Amino acid sequence: MEKKSPKKPACLTVVANEEVTPNMRRITLSGKALANYPNIDSAAYVKLFFDFAGNPLSVPPESMNEAQLRTYTVRSLDRQAQSISLDMALHGEGKQSGPASHWAKRASKGDKIIVGGPGSSKGLAEHYDWVLFAGDMTSLPAISVYLEKLPGSTQGYAVIQITSEEDKQVLVKPDGVEIKWVIGNAPSLADVVDGLNWLPGTPGIWAACEFSSMRALRSLFVKDRNIAHEQIYISSYWREGRSEDQHKADKRKDAEVFAAKLIQ
Ligand SMILES: Cc1cc2nc3c(=O)[nH]c(=O)nc-3n(C[C@H](O)[C@H](O)[C@H](O)COP(=O)(O)OP(=O)(O)OC[C@H]3O[C@@H](n4cnc5c(N)ncnc54)[C@H](O)[C@@H]3O)c2cc1C
Repeated sequence: MEKKSPKKPACLTVVANEEVTPNMRRITLSGKALANYPNIDSAAYVKLFFDFAGNPLSVPPESMNEAQLRTYTVRSLDRQAQSISLDMALHGEGKQSGPASHWAKRASKGDKIIVGGPGSSKGLAEHYDWVLFAGDMTSLPAISVYLEKLPGSTQGYAVIQITSEEDKQVLVKPDGVEIKWVIGNAPSLADVVDGLNWLPGTPGIWAACEFSSMRALRSLFVKDRNIAHEQIYISSYWREGRSEDQHKADKRKDAEVFAAKLIQ
């Protein structure tokens, strides 16, 4: 079956590849198509196109079956300068690490890549008394964008799991939002979130991370803490041991099973 093509794939050129922290690269891409990008919201994302040997595509594929896509949050967009930046977490070694991580380590000025999108996902709830963000290196870019845009009086927490102490970043945020860094896999994101001093009133929750961590957090929010569905955005951004395409299929199945359980 032919896969659905994302909107307007464009050929963009790498203009910079900088180290943000040891396990995060910031890739800045430029191209005329960016002048026509729509206004993007906080967790807008684009799709990077690779062939099945893991090489970046520099011309749009004739069929979507010739490309594998990888999803990255738009960290910043400057339409006037026709540039976009993506913060890409590094993981693993060599091509086994996945085409996107492998590319992020090596991309250099002048390299070309086909980029689809942008797309957007559901954001923070419209009404809340306090905010709770939970994520890892893959959602740190989205959480950073959200924190930058929150009203100055916002209270709450952002719990962010990072690979090493050196991956901490200085985040622009309201004073009342406390950042809790979790280094490595223990304690789990869900345990740290559960152990927070939950503030009075209704939280607006935004969480995105690895698949199993997402399931643990979802169970905490929905079953243990009884938070209303409309107050929560939760998504898995990747799955241990699964490529993005495999993870996408797992994610769809998991969402169906979860929704079916809710109406039983
Ligand atoms: C809406 C959305 C926005 C996203 N935004 C960002 C972003 O801004 N920055 C970012 O870094 N990621 C982001 N991600 C996650 C990113 O798309 C995945 O991590 C993707 O799988 C990486 O592709 P790859 O080619 O490097 O690895 P793949 O080929 O997909 O996977 C190869 C192997 O690497 C493992 N793997 C994949 N990602 C990771 C990881 N992060 N850590 C450890 N092992 C991993 C897989 O489990 C698999 O075993 C986002 C995902 C979504 C859905």
